[in-house]
Amino acid sequence: MRTVNINEIIEAVERLCQESNYNLNDDIKNGLKKGVQTEMSENGKEILEQIIENAEIARKERMAICQDTGMAVVFLEIGQDVHITGGSLTDAINEGVRRGYDKGYLRKSVVNDPVFERINTKDNTPAVIHYNIVDGDKIKITVAPKGFGSENMSGLKMLTPSEGIEGVKRFIIETVDKAGPNPCPPIIVGVGIGGTMEKAALLAKKALLRPIDERNSEPRIRELELELLESINRLGIGPAGLGGRVTALGVNVEVFPTHIAGLPVAVNISCHVTRHSEAVI
Ligand code: SF4
Repeated sequence: MRTVNINEIIEAVERLCQESNYNLNDDIKNGLKKGVQTEMSENGKEILEQIIENAEIARKERMAICQDTGMAVVFLEIGQDVHITGGSLTDAINEGVRRGYDKGYLRKSVVNDPVFERINTKDNTPAVIHYNIVDGDKIKITVAPKGFGSENMSGLKMLTPSEGIEGVKRFIIETVDKAGPNPCPPIIVGVGIGGTMEKAALLAKKALLRPIDERNSEPRIRELELELLESINRLGIGPAGLGGRVTALGVNVEVFPTHIAGLPVAVNISCHVTRHSEAVI
């Protein structure tokens, strides 16, 4: 049994909150650069160039890529042979978020109660934490801050099995079309199909962690990803919603077995500031 003290976890989360907000990952940067080549609209091209320049400034100056520094979503893969010492794991994650957002001058966007009070907690906690127990004696931490311009445009539908693959495609395209310019296109589309209602939503969120230049290993899902990307880019929404070809940079689909009576589909839309950084302790 390997021992990990919570201080290591706090420090890692603090650093990951800042890194993810300052540095756009290479797959997204490459997708944006490719977009400049394929975009036909002059406005669209200019916007893509500005987005690339903005990301470069953020990286060099260690500043947030976007003013919406997101709600901190944290994925943990905890090896079953790890023993955590020094306190509560959940408290450690939240302490890391608190320090990361405070010391990194990142906007605090979390309110204490969703409906009645809506008072800012002033330290961007609590984080949304997903715990997963895996083999081994390591802890993998992924911090994925999520802006709500795009989160608000996401959707979930419990289709009937008879709606089949055509129903799945229709729902995904409709969700993106309805979102229009609101999620700050070009977007990344995370899709979860199968499981139960909450499993589909989690699959869609996790799909956003896969690099956009890496296709699903299952040939039928890979084809679906490519087809959806093409259909979405024919919608004409374009960069910043001002029209054009580059509405989405990537569509990542994850699937899971489901019940004989159901076909859940979740679409998690993410903006061009799709952020995530990870560390293994
Ligand atoms: S949707 Fe993304 S790019 Fe738009 S404001 Fe939110 S975090 Fe920023």
